[in-house]
Amino acid sequence: MDYKAANNLQDLQYFGEFGGVNPSISDSSTYTFISAKTMFDTFEGNTEGCYLYSRHSTPSNLYLGEALAALEDTESANVYASGMGAITSVILQLCDANDHIVSSRTIYGGTYAFMKNFLKKFNIKTSFVDTTSIETVEKAITKNTKMIYCEAVSNPLLEVADIKALSELAKKYNLPLVVDNTFSPLSITPTKLGADIVIHSLTKFINGTSDCVAGVVCGTIDFCSSLKDVNSGAAMLLGSTLDSLRASSILKNMRTLHIRMKKHSDNAHFLAKKMENDGLKVSYPGLNSHSGNKIMAKQINVEYGYGGLLTLNVDTLENANALMELMQTKNIGYLAVSLGFYKTLFSAPGTSTSSEIPVDEQKKMGLSEGLIRFSIGLDNDIERTYSIMRECMVSLKILKS
Ligand SMILES: *Cc1c(COP(=O)(O)O)cnc(C)c1O
Repeated sequence: MDYKAANNLQDLQYFGEFGGVNPSISDSSTYTFISAKTMFDTFEGNTEGCYLYSRHSTPSNLYLGEALAALEDTESANVYASGMGAITSVILQLCDANDHIVSSRTIYGGTYAFMKNFLKKFNIKTSFVDTTSIETVEKAITKNTKMIYCEAVSNPLLEVADIKALSELAKKYNLPLVVDNTFSPLSITPTKLGADIVIHSLTKFINGTSDCVAGVVCGTIDFCSSLKDVNSGAAMLLGSTLDSLRASSILKNMRTLHIRMKKHSDNAHFLAKKMENDGLKVSYPGLNSHSGNKIMAKQINVEYGYGGLLTLNVDTLENANALMELMQTKNIGYLAVSLGFYKTLFSAPGTSTSSEIPVDEQKKMGLSEGLIRFSIGLDNDIERTYSIMRECMVSLKILKS
């Protein structure tokens, strides 16, 4: 794969109203009209370039949306106040009461909880399946199915979705394939592999500074407009609107995404190799030993590598907790959920971000309690980082010296 998203982003220029090198921030909730007729037409969605009310759209949100559409090579994109705001809007836009979803079983805990628990209110049922088996996905499709849902690289197990195969199946049944690409911006371009709708939690790599939550839906102009429809749009009516100030700040951070992703990937790949050589149970899509390595190799835009996430299984929760606490003391990173920060972040998903998933289901999907998820930071000297990590593991007898 070789989609030049970073070049397209670089070519997007926006100037501020006084010639500023950054676009002006729209500091208003509402907008005036000279003619009443134009206001009416804007309500009806018939006027390009007119703004009405900031829950519907703002110039700042549209700039960020354009950049994200360029990132994912879609016609359009809507930004949201969180990743969950984006995910829930897409689901509720595509599904009516009594409909059905086929979803990967290894997905973000919040998405899982929404599908499994919250959608009961509408009698929308989800089949959670092993999406690495296309036959299993096909068997799960019913006449009520309205979408196939997966994560390009899954949280927290780093399962790699075969987006091309899934999209071929989705097309056969005329279903949209919705892909959450939060773990692999720039590395994977799902639309190039046939995905229809791409979602991100901007909270993670794309913003990259762990100072806000935000999300995006990238798709066709028709779908993005339907989400904003004043009468029936989930984005408009559920109201998880991103603030303009925050949108402008995320757009500025996005300007360095290509540099950061390369460094996150290089550092994670280096650590994964070192851990594997030391005989540790490390999982990283860039390692030959990873079950998704071949598919990932086919799917990535090579220059961005295999991503910044890796997992390490240290067998018990006690080991995991002791190691994370010690590494934090040694300033290797922070014991914190989330990902995509300049600093390494680690957490034990079984007791944190995936705790919405019942323990027996965690076992079935291979999520053991001694699993630590690492979001590897932008460390300048990653060899030094590993030698300190190694000392931590040796002193806790997780590793023999
Ligand atoms: C964090 C995350 C989300 C949820 O995003 P928020 O911004 O926290 O609402 C969804 N999917 C994945 C893969 C995530 O990592």
